[in-house]
Amino acid sequence: MTPFDVDTARKETPGCETVVHFNNAGAALMPRPVLDSVIGHLNLEASIGGYEAAAAANDALEGVYPSAARLLGCAPDEIAFLDSATRAWDLAFFAIPFRPGDRVLTSEAEYASNFIAYLQAAERHGIEVAVVPNDESGQISVPRLREMLDDRVRLVSLTHVPTNGGLVNPAAEVGRAAREAGVLFLLDACQSAGQIPLDVDAIGCDLLSLTGRKYLRGPRGTGILYVRRERLAELTPPMLDLHAAKWVARDRYEMREDARRFESWEFNVAAKIGFGAAVDYALGWDLDAIWERVSRLAADLRPRLDELPGVRVRDVGAEQCGIVSFTVDAMTGDAVKTALAQHSINVSVSRAPSTRWDMEHRGLAEVVRASLHYYNTVEEIDAFCRVLHAAG
Ligand SMILES: *Cc1c(COP(=O)(O)O)cnc(C)c1O
Repeated sequence: MTPFDVDTARKETPGCETVVHFNNAGAALMPRPVLDSVIGHLNLEASIGGYEAAAAANDALEGVYPSAARLLGCAPDEIAFLDSATRAWDLAFFAIPFRPGDRVLTSEAEYASNFIAYLQAAERHGIEVAVVPNDESGQISVPRLREMLDDRVRLVSLTHVPTNGGLVNPAAEVGRAAREAGVLFLLDACQSAGQIPLDVDAIGCDLLSLTGRKYLRGPRGTGILYVRRERLAELTPPMLDLHAAKWVARDRYEMREDARRFESWEFNVAAKIGFGAAVDYALGWDLDAIWERVSRLAADLRPRLDELPGVRVRDVGAEQCGIVSFTVDAMTGDAVKTALAQHSINVSVSRAPSTRWDMEHRGLAEVVRASLHYYNTVEEIDAFCRVLHAAG
């Protein structure tokens, strides 16, 4: 394994000069090429006009599709660009032609917005949602999933990495089970994209959503939906506009043939260009090398946290990623966050309503989330542990 060039990564990340950023699961620091592409396009819009700037940037805009396709191991026409992962996920989910009694199988780590959609679809379409229990390690139990995969199941919907901790769910094993049962598989890859190599064929998912601002280091307000080509025909977006479809006669429209039927005509052009730059930047580092470094930094941090009096690491799962979750006895999450912020160390607090099944199962109201990226350093981890020790 070649050593990761952390110095270059930090030189190309302006924020590294001002903060110790352990909130990469919230929004990572943008690298210089991303920042430059976004600001450059805004300047161009201001000087020549928004439509004219978009036309001038056509190559960069179209380049987003092959770049995202390389990231996920799919084809460019299987990619739709959206303004968040939630929007991407919702559009995919509500495109499924549910019938009353259809079942959705999901996991305990499921994200709030996804679960709210299941409840809404239960009201609207009479579907049922069932949560597959975890195994002893804290990841989704694949044997239990296989038992629950009966004729009623229309969709398996999994969060790869939850918002509240280091767990990496066994997406490829879930995909194999779903594929063998001939059931649609939707993967929420929001927290994994940019830190864990993803390949939609190896995972076996039909639909995948991800966000730009987290481990991919893109601008806010960006997201991607992947739709497997063979599945496109059975999925009709809940709404269409003049980009997603063509109005070919007064009484007739034709939907686009590719995944862009899920897009809208209007979008933040600068952000989309920045998203493409972020994907290219990540690919330039190599996702295997990123994953190696991120998971190792987090694996270094966990035992050090566990040694601090009153601090308890809360991560579960057989495989763990760059997100480190913990609690401090006799301190609220907000108090921990504030104490660290006084030393320019960023963390966030994840609360039960974001991942209710998991948090209630474990009797947790909240956890502090320290999410590490490849540009973080052992020195930053030292400083973090010092401040936490003094505060706790
Ligand atoms: C952040 C997050 C989302 C939502 O992403 P947005 O881009 O904010 O819509 C979805 N799922 C998980 C697991 C997340 O952590």
